[in-house]
Amino acid sequence: MSSSFSNTISRVVERHHGGIKVPDIDHTHGNKPTKFPIPNKVRIPMSMHMGAPCKPLVKRGDEVQVGQIIADSEALLSAPIHASVSGKVTGISVGELDAAGNKTTLIEIESDGKMTPWSEIKIPNINSRQDFIQSVRDSGVVGLGGAGFPTSVKFATDQKIEILIANGAECEPYNTSDYYTMQYRTKEMLNGLKESMKWLNIDQGIIFVEENKMSAVEEIIKLLETKSDQYPNIKVMVAPVLYPRGAEKVVIQMTTGRVVPAGKLPADVNVLVSNVTTLAEIGKFLETGVPLIDKVVTVDGQAIREPQNVLVPIGTEIYEILKFCDLDESIVESVIMGGPMMGVAVGDINSPLIKMNNAILAMTKAERGDCPATECIRCAKCVRGCPMKLSPTIMYKAIMKENLDQAKEIGVMNCIECGACSYSCPADIALVHWFRQAKSAIRTKER
Ligand code: SF4
Ligand code: SF4
Repeated sequence: MSSSFSNTISRVVERHHGGIKVPDIDHTHGNKPTKFPIPNKVRIPMSMHMGAPCKPLVKRGDEVQVGQIIADSEALLSAPIHASVSGKVTGISVGELDAAGNKTTLIEIESDGKMTPWSEIKIPNINSRQDFIQSVRDSGVVGLGGAGFPTSVKFATDQKIEILIANGAECEPYNTSDYYTMQYRTKEMLNGLKESMKWLNIDQGIIFVEENKMSAVEEIIKLLETKSDQYPNIKVMVAPVLYPRGAEKVVIQMTTGRVVPAGKLPADVNVLVSNVTTLAEIGKFLETGVPLIDKVVTVDGQAIREPQNVLVPIGTEIYEILKFCDLDESIVESVIMGGPMMGVAVGDINSPLIKMNNAILAMTKAERGDCPATECIRCAKCVRGCPMKLSPTIMYKAIMKENLDQAKEIGVMNCIECGACSYSCPADIALVHWFRQAKSAIRTKER
């Protein structure tokens, strides 16, 4: 790539409120993933997406193959689940806890060590928009940036979509799994984007990346420029590094200047945003018929002696993955699923890896930096950092007074839980924790 930007790439000017600088820690930057050995068993949860949990389609004793559908739901908001190893179903247990502490049903498969592909895997035949949306559903793909929203449902919007944004702004420290996708699965990602644009009748595609990932940008540009006939109307936009750059509403405003109003969706401003790994999985499914069965996760943190990206079958126990990366059990204080800003603490490290996991961090006490909260000193740092233009300090005070109506009135439901306010707060108040709790309480009350 030349030093000056070509027509396919442009630098985005800052046009969004808020954001904070967080340490650019990425020990796994540029790493190709190590393949995790075939696990002896996997335990696959029925809730790996936003919406209705799936129901098992197999029973104890059944033999299954890799990529076979083992669970599905008739609910609109759902995505099917596939076996990630071949072997025998040894149990279906109800009421088990997943990594986030939610109750779920797990299908346990004992691996036969052969990884035999499902005999019914076939490349999808697509002739219409409906065929394409059905294929996206069949692939089992959900929002892999962490949201877990079933992608087929997002794509089935009735709104006219003008722009599809491939979101490669992986802005949390440590995480590099999307970076890997952009750098090494470039063709699958671009094909997923191109086919989505074609069948959803979308004129323009944008790949949004932060400027600390230029080696991935170079790979993308190389393909876009050498195969410009195959990838028309797709450009790359590069933005300065700032957290939470990858938040959907931030991405849309940065790339298009459009503002998604509170309570509205990107489709309401004629835009869709899809994570780059989500698009790569769609590209892979369209080319091979192989559904979502494994995931590249970044395994990092000071309690990990060998930080790396690892390609792991879904349903593998988190503890096994940590041991594979040489976990130092004498210093680990907590295990986080996701990044340090938005991730959740893993309650049980024997719980399984799910579709949306993109990082597992084993952190020490020093790294967590937990300090007791003190009084708010009204510095307004949280207000300046909030990408949603909220007033975290005022919302916090309303919640402390147990005035949820006021918290709602001043916008707590618009909080995207990015944690920028908590991170900036010199009084170490866990603001985002209170906002999560308040949102959940308000939803429960309204139900
Ligand atoms: S967690 Fe919510 S209130 Fe805090 S900065 Fe992010 S969006 Fe704003
Ligand atoms: S950053 Fe913390 S101390 Fe400063 S105003 Fe916000 S809540 Fe108060």
